[in-house]
Amino acid sequence: MRDRPVYPFTAIVGQEPMKEALILNTVNPLIGGVLIRGEKGTAKSTAVRALAGLLPDRDVVRGCPCSCAWGDDGNMCPECRERASDGSLEMETVPMRVVELPLSSTEDRVAGTLDIEHAITTGRKRFEPGVLAKANGNILYVDEINLLDDHIVDLMLDAAAMGVNFVEREGVSYSHPSRFILIGTMNPEEGDLRPQLLDRFGLMVDVVSEKDEDRRTEILLRRMEFERDPEGFSEDYRGSQEELRDRIRDARSLVSEIEPGPDVLRAAVRIPLHLDVDGHRADLTLVKAAVAHAAFEGRIEVLPSDVVHVSNLVMPHRMRRNPFQESKLDLDELGTWAREQFRVG
Ligand SMILES: [Zn+2]
Repeated sequence: MRDRPVYPFTAIVGQEPMKEALILNTVNPLIGGVLIRGEKGTAKSTAVRALAGLLPDRDVVRGCPCSCAWGDDGNMCPECRERASDGSLEMETVPMRVVELPLSSTEDRVAGTLDIEHAITTGRKRFEPGVLAKANGNILYVDEINLLDDHIVDLMLDAAAMGVNFVEREGVSYSHPSRFILIGTMNPEEGDLRPQLLDRFGLMVDVVSEKDEDRRTEILLRRMEFERDPEGFSEDYRGSQEELRDRIRDARSLVSEIEPGPDVLRAAVRIPLHLDVDGHRADLTLVKAAVAHAAFEGRIEVLPSDVVHVSNLVMPHRMRRNPFQESKLDLDELGTWAREQFRVG
């Protein structure tokens, strides 16, 4: 139960790329998270917190602090593995959550701590779980991620990439599953993220405040209505919220059935080549995001046009940057080029 209603996702006006990036990650968590950049007051945090209202339920091991996924015996924490061997595991269905990482978090708080004294005196490991345990199977949200210590960001990105949190102290080690969708928001006016870190986010979106007068008025009206009567406002959006939640749930079950064909792979290779992007991370992310997009559209066939569609979320932070000039992805140019290349409508 929540203390106070969260602003409904479907009540957010505009900001389509940001909403799409959040939805695609929820459909296919292997995309690798999203970084949302934008000035203050562009509904970044509102959108991430609102995502909680659309997340599906998960079957987990009851009582596990890492909320180990039920039935995934190969990826359980040591306690669950031990309990599984004497058959005392029980299943519980819980909603997937948005776990927030406070900026003041220390390494211990994020990774968790090992009680070395306990290990020495009893010969048994005792682990105090951190945020990476809570985040397992969920969304890990860091607001103002650019202000977080680089070392902590590294730690999170490593865990996110491997799906495991590994803690070692004085020769004693412990690991537990830590599979989560990392979502970071930041205001670029307050400093950027290191380029090496940028590339490790699957998607990136730059959000700008609404310039259209009518849409801006609509944003204001809805905000006022929500503040006046949060329960009533949320009730008005219940139908659209349920519809979107069902659509995401159905798309999640489609993802594993979608097999990208050679034309899709070719598109995913050609776009980064055309944009002169190093490494292969972009190619892979294009495929994963294209698959999520097809699934969200209710298709089990992924097309080159899906790859082109998601490239505006996958490519911007992977472009080479001219130190004297902020290089920007020209989406119109890319779109025209891609349509010619892949003959998509
Ligand atoms: Zn467990």
